Amino acid sequence: MISVKEKKNYLSQHVQAIKPSGIRRFFDLASSMEDVISLGVGEPDFVTPWTFIEASYHSLERGYTAYTANAGLLELRQEISKYMRRRFQVTYSPEEEMVVTVGASQAIDIALRAIVNPGEEVIVVEPSFVSYAPTITLAGGVPVPIHTQPDQEFKLQPEQIEAAITAKTKALLLCSPNNPTGTVLSKQELVRIAEMVEKHDLLVISDEIYGELTYDEPYTSFPSIASMQKRTILISGFSKAFAMTGWRLGFACGPKEIIAAMLKIHQYTMMCAPTMAQYAALEALSNGAKDVMKMKESYRQRRSLVTRSLNEMGLACHLPGGSFYVFPCVKETGLTSEEFAEQLLLKEKVAVVPGNVFGESGEGYIRCSYASSIPKLEEAMRRIQRFVQSLQS
Ligand code: PMP
Repeated sequence: MISVKEKKNYLSQHVQAIKPSGIRRFFDLASSMEDVISLGVGEPDFVTPWTFIEASYHSLERGYTAYTANAGLLELRQEISKYMRRRFQVTYSPEEEMVVTVGASQAIDIALRAIVNPGEEVIVVEPSFVSYAPTITLAGGVPVPIHTQPDQEFKLQPEQIEAAITAKTKALLLCSPNNPTGTVLSKQELVRIAEMVEKHDLLVISDEIYGELTYDEPYTSFPSIASMQKRTILISGFSKAFAMTGWRLGFACGPKEIIAAMLKIHQYTMMCAPTMAQYAALEALSNGAKDVMKMKESYRQRRSLVTRSLNEMGLACHLPGGSFYVFPCVKETGLTSEEFAEQLLLKEKVAVVPGNVFGESGEGYIRCSYASSIPKLEEAMRRIQRFVQSLQS
């Protein structure tokens, strides 16, 4: 008899502890079908403005094809520093308080790896961007969810932070404007959160990648709140407002000791962000304000259209203050968010993301991205309405 030896498991415990992203399953299904309108993807429908592309071409023509400094091109960091001061009233040293990364994604990853010790807890405000909890787990930390409430427009309440804190809490991960809810925290709300942060001696990772895309009130960047800059790692990037998802470029700003630690990880694991993308970003910051404005105005119109249509057909949602997502409630239909998304895709060929992939408190909701043309959005709204009506009859 041949003895069957148990197969050795070569995978790390951390990687086994995380699940593949729930968004992918829907995209795989949607991409196998024809005539699908996708409100599923979290990226602009605009092509990167031509002048940014041209700046990148020119950099290649000049032969700038080598690595840059680990922290990124100094000229780009200087431009980021000016931009952060001009747009968000926070001042960072280009030499010591900044690192250019491969998307905001890498900035979040190295921020967590720089600060989290094994078993330390990081508070995540749910519904949240799908990467946060897995990235915390991969860094050896423990994600601790806070569940925000729809009747409070999914706004984090400072008391919820207090209730989530233990002796192991290291940091709070904030995302305003939020993915998937579009919720923006006001200056007063951030001030109250800051008081909690101070009281409990926390660090904050503030993901402000949608900071340019707010539609109603002036935006407040978390480190601009008094005494918060020394506690905050600010994350941002070029993917959303500058329509540059494929260029893979982001950045982090923060206290110099933390940035130095992040840079240590970055220099060994990444070397630097792509050089030609850094030249495009330099142009985007120096001369791209008008392009950003134009795209933002068009998101604003689309936001009105989508929010109004969804509410009219009985899928209640608040007017989201930022990003390009709305997060309507589908509980009235009697379907779970996965059932709703799957049946809508199969029957009416509209792809949305079921809210449960953003955490437990997203159940009963779907995420619709309005980064699509008005005609496409109008057609998508007609199809969703037909689907909702078919459920009632
Ligand atoms: N943070 C949030 C909240 C996001 O929605 C995304 C992209 N969907 C990212 C970070 C990552 O962006 P990047 O393309 O810069 O890695």
